[in-house]
Amino acid sequence: MTLPYGIFSYGIASPRVGVLVKEPVPGSPVAGDHILDLEIVSLLGFFKDLPLDPAVFAKPVLNDFMALGKPVWQAVRRRLIDLLEHPDKPFIEIAEQVLIDPARVTMHLPVRVGDYTDFYASEEHASNVGRMFRPDGNPLLPNWKHLPVAYHGRASSIVVSGTPIRRPQGQYPGPDNQPVFGPSQALDFELELGIVIGRTSELGEPVPVGEAEDFIFGLVLFNDWSARDIQRWEYQPLGPFLGKNFASSISPWVVPLEALDGCRIESPKQEPTPLPYLRTSGRTHFDIELEVALQTGDGRPETVISRTNARHLYWSAAQMIAHHTVNGCNLNVGDILATGTISGPEPGSYGSLLELSWNGARPLSLPDGSARTFLQDGDTLILRGRAGNGTVDFGEVSGRINR
Ligand code: CA
Repeated sequence: MTLPYGIFSYGIASPRVGVLVKEPVPGSPVAGDHILDLEIVSLLGFFKDLPLDPAVFAKPVLNDFMALGKPVWQAVRRRLIDLLEHPDKPFIEIAEQVLIDPARVTMHLPVRVGDYTDFYASEEHASNVGRMFRPDGNPLLPNWKHLPVAYHGRASSIVVSGTPIRRPQGQYPGPDNQPVFGPSQALDFELELGIVIGRTSELGEPVPVGEAEDFIFGLVLFNDWSARDIQRWEYQPLGPFLGKNFASSISPWVVPLEALDGCRIESPKQEPTPLPYLRTSGRTHFDIELEVALQTGDGRPETVISRTNARHLYWSAAQMIAHHTVNGCNLNVGDILATGTISGPEPGSYGSLLELSWNGARPLSLPDGSARTFLQDGDTLILRGRAGNGTVDFGEVSGRINR
């Protein structure tokens, strides 16, 4: 069972914590996707021997629940799996009242995000960008294989799936490399995973790489919308700013790290060997199938424009956390670390239009006869993720471009 956590509301009920249940409940007529209302389940006493107050599930974000720590996350998950796989009579009797039809609910941003950091952890993506913009040099800069490169992003503009995305305006280079002002002409997506931090670290205290996963509550799909023209004009010397911070979209369901145990894989070979504080071994990476679909504004069916996999990340989530905190920078409950665009080795596995259209040189042909180099108004971009032969479902994150 994946049992991802999210925040939902329905009817006159205020937002509360739920888990998405995809399996039928034995002995009850409930089948198909349902959302289990954890506030009600908890108030009815099904968690009464667990060290938590039902009030943590009556909140509009997951932060208070996450702050209870990993032993509580594990205990609740065990209890939920037990209740749903082997329901007792009291649970069967209330199942129809506490398992809510997703068609009736509104999903909300699941986490109050304090800080957001965006990494650059896919070697294929970093190499593709290097080939495009530094054709005469080494595709990777000298630091890339020694540390997980990142910048600090903007938490205030992180929105939940389904939120319309307004095309940003700003300065970008026009003819003669003089700046012009207007709506971005090169609006792009970036396919990433978001790592939701569920534990606070102390200021001044690095998190050892071997303990870093204890700080991860779960993963979401993450679309780091990017205006390439604004980015190109502004990014030197201090890095991304208005080309990136106008919006990032996340999926509403947070997949607990524990649900991914069966999808773990070995790290790719890291050569040169990283410095000791970044050295790990074992199954530090995840086999998560990812896809990108584009639906144009004319109502035609969507087109899958890329298929890739989280296995193409070079740096692991644990290495990102160890690097982020090695200088003493502290993490807080609710922070999100995004992986950076995930691209595979083949052109059909790239995680941005910048790469898929090779910076506009190879427009994508769509079935309706139109072509795309970057996103047009009315386009809806959808990211999806699945793992474990479909047993783990990340759902999707979508956003429609508006003028
Ligand atoms: Ca990014």
